Amino acid sequence: MKPIIIIGAGLAGYTVAREFRKLDKATPLIMITEDSGGFYSKPMLSNAFAQNKGAQQLVSQSATQMAEQLGATLVTNTRVNGIDTAAKTLDTSSGTYGFEKLVLAVGAQAIQLGLKGDAADQVLSVNHIDDYAAFRERINAQDNAATVRIAILGAGLIGCEFADDLAGAGHKVTLIDPSTRPLAALAAPALSAGLQTALIARGVQFHLGTVAETVTHAGRDLRVTLADGNTVDTDVVLSAVGLRPDLRLAQAAQLKTGRGIIIDTAGQTSAADIFALGDCAEYTSTVDGSTRILPYIAPIMTAGRAIARTLTGERTEIDLKPSPVLIKTPSYPLALIAPAPQIVAAGKWADETTETGRNICRFYDANGVLEGFGVSPHDNAIRQELLAALGQKANQ
Ligand SMILES: Cc1cc2nc3c(=O)[nH]c(=O)nc-3n(C[C@H](O)[C@H](O)[C@H](O)COP(=O)(O)OP(=O)(O)OC[C@H]3O[C@@H](n4cnc5c(N)ncnc54)[C@H](O)[C@@H]3O)c2cc1C
Repeated sequence: MKPIIIIGAGLAGYTVAREFRKLDKATPLIMITEDSGGFYSKPMLSNAFAQNKGAQQLVSQSATQMAEQLGATLVTNTRVNGIDTAAKTLDTSSGTYGFEKLVLAVGAQAIQLGLKGDAADQVLSVNHIDDYAAFRERINAQDNAATVRIAILGAGLIGCEFADDLAGAGHKVTLIDPSTRPLAALAAPALSAGLQTALIARGVQFHLGTVAETVTHAGRDLRVTLADGNTVDTDVVLSAVGLRPDLRLAQAAQLKTGRGIIIDTAGQTSAADIFALGDCAEYTSTVDGSTRILPYIAPIMTAGRAIARTLTGERTEIDLKPSPVLIKTPSYPLALIAPAPQIVAAGKWADETTETGRNICRFYDANGVLEGFGVSPHDNAIRQELLAALGQKANQ
């Protein structure tokens, strides 16, 4: 019997494997990953400094433990270089593997900004536990490791989370972003303002409405020069400007791609018996057939369950219910469902501050239909209430 092979041992790969094993204990299962395969929760990477957690403390299970638990063969430190969709084989750095069915869970890559300057190669980004280990090491190597100056490029979800976490750990953070407010792509202006105020109270400095152009050495410092002419002298530079689905294998195998690897409503790519999910995938809506990338945990869980069942031979649709993104900024914790970018210009935000000081922003489209929300602080009750209202698509 040829195996099912999963490429990638992040949350997407492991979720499919775990869900598949609940349904089928016999079919051989191989996971191939270019990293060491230890299991960790990636969202913890931007919340670990304030808790002073090193990379190894974040790995809850080793590859060997995972292999045993899943009844799978884990092929670690091995890169898949090519897929032959007709022959159903993989070319890897440790030989050729044949598969019956294949799952691509290869994640995304950090976007590189193309910065100029003799220290541009010193800019770090964190999208993997190994990146986090390198980032910690860089901080700990500074003379004054307890209070390091860190410039973060990008004030989106990951940049803001790192800013709050690093400031909470005692570091001096500067956030730089081309937008005029943090979390501009996801949150209502009122909530961006609330977050900015909370981060400033933590000691975070902002350079908004501008971008970094060069990073140079200036004595023992790194100097970030901005498009508006200002400079930021710092010890460490972290780029958090976003991720791009990793399409390299899919494109070389001539699978259909857009921004991500395009999958149908059951997670199948344009090739039979080849599936994809997670940060590399572009999901198709069961409601209107539109496609979108969803680089978050909740869709991975839903897609993982559905694809696992489909792998057993029972085609199962991925039922992507709206699920709020939780922004892990303890100074100003947010839950939100952002309206689709194409409707933002024609709609409007309505802001409410409750008696208890909770900020709730609801987004209504041009027809007065609720299409998104953001709330801070949040708890399960308010999230459910807002989700229910969104489900009803309440008219105003
Ligand atoms: C700092 C941070 C905080 C986050 N916080 C949140 C949050 O609070 N809530 C939320 O919903 N989401 C959050 N996210 C997003 C979420 O963590 C990701 O959507 C999710 O972890 C992606 O998992 P993945 O398995 O698709 O990709 P990855 O974890 O990137 O896994 C990809 C795997 O593929 C392997 N691989 C890639 N190419 C090859 C190849 N050619 N051959 C072999 N192996 C290969 C890699 O080794 C890796 O094992 C956060 C992300 C980051 C970076």
